Amino acid sequence: MTNGTLRVLPLGGLGEIGKNMMVVEYGGRIIVVDTGLMFPAPDQLGIDLVLPDFTYLRERADDIEAIVLTHGHEDHVGALPFVLRELDRAPTIYGGPLTAAMVRSKLDEHRLKDAPVEDVLASQTFDAGPFSVEMVKMAHSIPDMFAVAITTELGTMLMTGDYKFDQTPVDGVPADVARLAELGREGLLLLCGDSTNADRPGMSPSESSVGPKLREVFARCRGRIVVTCFASNIHRVQQVVDAAAALDRRVSLIGRSMRKNTNIGRMLGHIDIPDGMLVGPKEIEDFPDERLVIISTGSQGEPLSALRRMAHGDHPNVDLHDGDTVIFSATPIPGNERAVNETIDRIYRLGANVITPADVPVHASGHGYAEELKLMINLTHPRYVMPVHGDHRRLRLHGELAEAVGVPPKSIFRGENGLPLELDASGARFGEREQAGLIFVDGVEVGDIEDVALRDRRMLSADGIFIVVATISEQDGRSVVPPEIIFRGVPFLEESDSFVDELRHAVDESLAHSAEEEITEIDLVQDHLHDDVAAFVYERLRRRPMILPVVVEV
Ligand SMILES: [Zn+2]
Ligand SMILES: [Zn+2]
Repeated sequence: MTNGTLRVLPLGGLGEIGKNMMVVEYGGRIIVVDTGLMFPAPDQLGIDLVLPDFTYLRERADDIEAIVLTHGHEDHVGALPFVLRELDRAPTIYGGPLTAAMVRSKLDEHRLKDAPVEDVLASQTFDAGPFSVEMVKMAHSIPDMFAVAITTELGTMLMTGDYKFDQTPVDGVPADVARLAELGREGLLLLCGDSTNADRPGMSPSESSVGPKLREVFARCRGRIVVTCFASNIHRVQQVVDAAAALDRRVSLIGRSMRKNTNIGRMLGHIDIPDGMLVGPKEIEDFPDERLVIISTGSQGEPLSALRRMAHGDHPNVDLHDGDTVIFSATPIPGNERAVNETIDRIYRLGANVITPADVPVHASGHGYAEELKLMINLTHPRYVMPVHGDHRRLRLHGELAEAVGVPPKSIFRGENGLPLELDASGARFGEREQAGLIFVDGVEVGDIEDVALRDRRMLSADGIFIVVATISEQDGRSVVPPEIIFRGVPFLEESDSFVDELRHAVDESLAHSAEEEITEIDLVQDHLHDDVAAFVYERLRRRPMILPVVVEV
């Protein structure tokens, strides 16, 4: 018997889909499992990213022994650079080889190269302070998916991460069911399980079921095929490549993250694409339609993604036309439905056909359904259950599934962000609420929602406003008359004339750059213009006035 208390504090991921972050605490020391982000809702204008409020970690920075990452999805790793930036000393970050590679590349982009990132393999264990940590192989829609078993004197808890029980995963290595059962026999104290598909009855289809469906659809297509899926879904990309090869088509990868992740996946041996198989983006328009499959980002209708640009007739390498078929090998994440539907409709307008998982099962979820969640509970036989990774409805449904397989209701904890579950020798209960919530990232700044509104006002009062009116040619997008620059309340412009001239020049350059990139959609041109002008003004004046770009086409 021990008199220690295990505290399990979710800072994100409960009552929502996204920004997963769990703080596990024992003897005053901390392990953080996952540091995820969420993409903003459409009404959160001007906000780029949503992060969990991690004030708690900032205050306890010295106590953090390690950050453990279950897998490489943004809702589990996306907040990492922002967390590390706030800590004086970066704790060691552990993740599977693919997770680690993706995170290193991300930290590089944020100039956080020095953070110690360690590869861990399936079944590997390591110690971090009073914790012993073990990675347990699971299956999901990205390779190197690990559940995390954390053992203290008090017992073992298991964070499942995102998982499904796929009997025929594309990499041939199913979840380590034997180890899960062993953990159950050894006596699991607490299970924190993925609730994403708690509302779907039965078992999820195997990832391997997608390949044959893709092949069937490909066989019916006479023209070019565009498949869009998550760039990190490396096994899906593999299946698209295999289906293309089977029908004697070659493959082109479109979109920065698609090329990047596929490269990382090839390096680590998760995906096999024969060298002669790839067609460069610039060769696409000269390649026979009936011989080509394009694999593209943009399955969620993301504003600057390759597919969205194709749908707007605005992609430099791909002109969608009659005879093309666009296959959505993904379903929209809640909140993205509108953007996806708009993208689909625009594709129809260009004359291409669209196939979604509602037409043909060309997608398999990476999250287990109800029977799989029950299987997890039956295998691990936990004393306590706290469902995670889901909105309130799914957390509740997951609790009901636990009850259905015999977990007593008083042992099922329906948690909330900020509410720590405290376990000791005498039982488990919720402790006192800690600070939790949202913070927003807007460009380079991090703040809460009041901060954003306040910052707008602060910007206006302290740094003023620039309105840039640019007139561009409808034909080639180049500036046709000198841009008009209006500013108000900008307190620093003494020798304003020369500065305004230079700013005009920066505007022209930005427009020319957009024209070169063949960006013609006005919203996108305005976005670029905003960023370029903001960068120029900050560079020159170290100020962040509000910038309103207005682009007029003539
Ligand atoms: Zn995931
Ligand atoms: Zn997730």
